[in-house]
Amino acid sequence: MTVHIDDNLEQRPDGAVACRHCGTAVGVAAEPLRDALVRERDPQDAGPSVRAEPAHFTDRRVVLRLTFCRGCLTQLQAEIVPADEPSFRTRNLAVGR
Ligand SMILES: [Zn+2]
Repeated sequence: MTVHIDDNLEQRPDGAVACRHCGTAVGVAAEPLRDALVRERDPQDAGPSVRAEPAHFTDRRVVLRLTFCRGCLTQLQAEIVPADEPSFRTRNLAVGR
């Protein structure tokens, strides 16, 4: 059975997580975005509501981390995070772990 995760992702019966727009596999249940493309930019590139320089609040480098389908470049996730931290916006679809 195919399960719709959100507007852009679905989990196939074989466990692969794929883009709902082009069918490209981007991960597996335990790591749904494992094979997606990641691009990091300045946080202010997120839009006009992000104006403050992160350096005013932290010594750590902060980035806008964008995740895309590698097949059709649909944006799958966006987060503003310290550059040296992994993504905390993860989805784990695995059962029984
Ligand atoms: Zn796609």
